[in-house]
Amino acid sequence: HVPIEAAEPGFDVPALPGMALHEIQTPALLVDLDVLDRNMERMRVAAQGAGVRLRAHAKTHKSADIARLQMERGGACGICCQKVSEAEAMVRAGIADILVANEVRDPAKLDRLARLAGCARIIVCVDDPAAVEDLSAAAQKAGTRIEVLVEIDCGAGRCGIAPGEPARDLALAVSCAPGLQFAGIQAYHGGAQHLATELERRDAIASAETLTRKTVELIAAEGLSCNIVGGAGTGTYPLEAASGVWNELQCGSYIFMDADYRRALGPLANAGFEHALFVLSSVMSRAPGRAVADAGLKCFSVDSGLPVVHDLDGVICTGLSDEHCQLDDPQGRLAINQRLQLIPGHCDPTCNLYDWYVGIRDGKVETLWPVTARGKVF
Ligand code: PLP
Ligand code: MN
Repeated sequence: HVPIEAAEPGFDVPALPGMALHEIQTPALLVDLDVLDRNMERMRVAAQGAGVRLRAHAKTHKSADIARLQMERGGACGICCQKVSEAEAMVRAGIADILVANEVRDPAKLDRLARLAGCARIIVCVDDPAAVEDLSAAAQKAGTRIEVLVEIDCGAGRCGIAPGEPARDLALAVSCAPGLQFAGIQAYHGGAQHLATELERRDAIASAETLTRKTVELIAAEGLSCNIVGGAGTGTYPLEAASGVWNELQCGSYIFMDADYRRALGPLANAGFEHALFVLSSVMSRAPGRAVADAGLKCFSVDSGLPVVHDLDGVICTGLSDEHCQLDDPQGRLAINQRLQLIPGHCDPTCNLYDWYVGIRDGKVETLWPVTARGKVF
């Protein structure tokens, strides 16, 4: 990146510190810094109150600056990444405690991961005995030690070995493998996070809890202890935190809060977290009853629905095309060049579309943060 002092707004960066909202070149990814602080503090207090650790998931923001804040002020003991390259980017930026909360099988990626463990605490998941051999070989070749969680499928039907005996046997294999240290269990129920009602989320996590508890007990009966029992996301973390089984929460989206999580968790008063992430967009065309703004499909991930207009009653986003945002505006509230703050449907894949976060406070740009691990999906 060009140094901020030499950066040309609109070309290198969307804004410069000190600018007002209307001076920001759009579309731009905005972070409300006061809200970010409040979301971070809320989660810090929740984890501390429940007596569990927080290992914030950095795949949400891919920002080393936000990861650092989470560790320095937000109560996080470390971060999660989902990809080796994401972890590499974070280690280069000085983050020293990372769980790659995923399976890594490609030999070249295993070599990279093993070398990374020479620079930071690295923890990774396995769900297959063959993966243990490969990981152990990579660690020995690099002369490093990798901590390993046995990932169980606790209900999401994604990755993970079957809970119970198969997971116990895998834990034993890890504990015997040179270069590896058995560190515990990964029990993340992804399918439960965005369920539409609290009752459904409760049921899903109750069943995950039974499977996870049984697995921890079987492993303990072999004389191995689970230093980490990791899982939970923004949708279910109070349940895992209160279970007495999980001891490390991996919430990510709480820091930003997207429109899909708002629909699932209910109004702000219930869910606590506020919207901190917006796409700032400008109105560029009007017609009776509607308007068009400049942020389209290249500015939002729409897998979880269209963006929601923030703080402007009666204006609704009705569709996106490549470079256009269609807005219904029955009361004619929008004017040309008016700035709109749009709440993304799904925060994580939206952030990966931008080079910069524009951090705002009191209506002014305070800081610019690079999206450190943008595009680091390998
Ligand atoms: N842990 C893992 C392994 C994940 O894949 C995710 C997100 O999908 C999370 C935790 C929680 O993320 P969030 O709080 O954004 O739902
Ligand atoms: Mn997500």
